[in-house]
Amino acid sequence: MHLNYSLMMGLDYNLMMDLTDIELKLEELEAGYKKRYFRKDTKRSWSFKCHCDEKVVSNVADEYFIVSMTRKDPNAISRRFCSKKCADIYIDEQRNVLSVERERIIEERRKVREVYEEAERKFIAIKEKS
Ligand SMILES: [Zn+2]
Repeated sequence: MHLNYSLMMGLDYNLMMDLTDIELKLEELEAGYKKRYFRKDTKRSWSFKCHCDEKVVSNVADEYFIVSMTRKDPNAISRRFCSKKCADIYIDEQRNVLSVERERIIEERRKVREVYEEAERKFIAIKEKS
């Protein structure tokens, strides 16, 4: 079996970067989750529609919740929610997606390491014979 070590190390490096990206996204998710209060001193009211289809109007409701993940895209629009319950559902979903992805990458790194260690054992065995 011929192994390209630099290719394998490159692959592991990419996986490590993907993992870092996911860790940052998870942190960002927690940090970007905030409770907001509607300003009551403005003449014009504004509204948005929550994921649950509830329309939230600034001169009716007092508070809303936002989740913003704008690290990579500063222009990305924050998601708004009518209640903590709705925001929590979204947060949980996102956290799950990221966790599954994180597990997949960890597993892939483990496999890469396994292949590498196996190759190393074979290499040592060949060296000892000669
Ligand atoms: Zn809602």
